[in-house]
Amino acid sequence: MPPQIRSAIASVPPYRPGKPAPSGPGGVSFKLSSNENPYPPLPGVLAATQAACERMNRYPDMANSELIVALADKHQVGEDQLAIGTGSVAVLYNLLQALAGEGDEVVYPWRSFEAYPIAVQLTGARSVQVPNGPDAGHDLEALRRAVTPATKVIMVCTPNNPTGPIVDHDRLAAFIDDVPDHIMIVIDEAYVEFGTAPNRARGLELIGPNVASLRTFSKAYGLAGFRVGYCVADPAIAGAVRAASAPFGVSLPAQAAAVASLAAEDELLHRVQELIKERDTLADGLRQLGLTVPDSQSNFVWLAAGDRTADWAQQFTAAGLMVRPFVDAPDAGLRITVGEPEANRLVLRTAAELV
Ligand SMILES: *Cc1c(COP(=O)(O)O)cnc(C)c1O
Repeated sequence: MPPQIRSAIASVPPYRPGKPAPSGPGGVSFKLSSNENPYPPLPGVLAATQAACERMNRYPDMANSELIVALADKHQVGEDQLAIGTGSVAVLYNLLQALAGEGDEVVYPWRSFEAYPIAVQLTGARSVQVPNGPDAGHDLEALRRAVTPATKVIMVCTPNNPTGPIVDHDRLAAFIDDVPDHIMIVIDEAYVEFGTAPNRARGLELIGPNVASLRTFSKAYGLAGFRVGYCVADPAIAGAVRAASAPFGVSLPAQAAAVASLAAEDELLHRVQELIKERDTLADGLRQLGLTVPDSQSNFVWLAAGDRTADWAQQFTAAGLMVRPFVDAPDAGLRITVGEPEANRLVLRTAAELV
């Protein structure tokens, strides 16, 4: 008999990454399927990274010291409130591992981030998915009603991937007050830098013994390929995440790139402002075509395409645009990342011809 894989692992659905850019007419080719930042690295960030490569024979700083100091300063939190990992998805895996297991439940909105069901299942806990409201945003009342004595963690994704809306700050604060203190609430803020709505949740102001915020360098900071993310939490929770994570996870070049990116934050956030303008133009343009697009507070837009999802995805691919179809009912749709201005214009021209 071969070795037996634990059932929690054997039945894990694979994570499906966004597909690579297709080749369209005349070589047109844009990848709008992974919410990546279309801007190339800043020269200063690249130089810091290259310098770090000179030391690749050495292990990285396991404590991520420089990055921890820079983040503690940026967010005005204690260094012991931070835990860094190879992307915020890895931090989430460790956080869930620390808090949930066999017999437990993890409650989260759906549709939301594709990594949640996988991360939950790996712990052996059960996923409890709560449908979003009619505006494609979270239904906090329904999330509260889904809590049972087995609930250990509730995920909140604001802005929500893949649909776009934020959670209102005051309503989230009231929700946190209302949830029993032994339940961890994880606020995934992967796209927080792209939010513009005045009432958007400010996760860091809500951090407490049972509330954590997840952040990433992958989106606004343009370091998706380097895998750096972190959580801001109570020291006990941050410590548990560090304890659960593999040592030396974040590479030396990745740490250097993240530190250099924080130093170049003004320039990077200026790029974010440009992407926000592009996003709003894209969303408005799609709505003018009569398409249903929920409010987007992130670097992507959601097309509620329903049973036309697969067909429309094909039409975008044929035009040289790889978008991200989510085909399973009842809320099938397409997520389109805000890309280069030429890509966004082509999205609108293609959308005008969708059949
Ligand atoms: C992209 C994304 C992340 C971040 O992933 P990394 O592992 O940091 O690259 C986390 N949460 C959501 C909802 C995301 O879309």
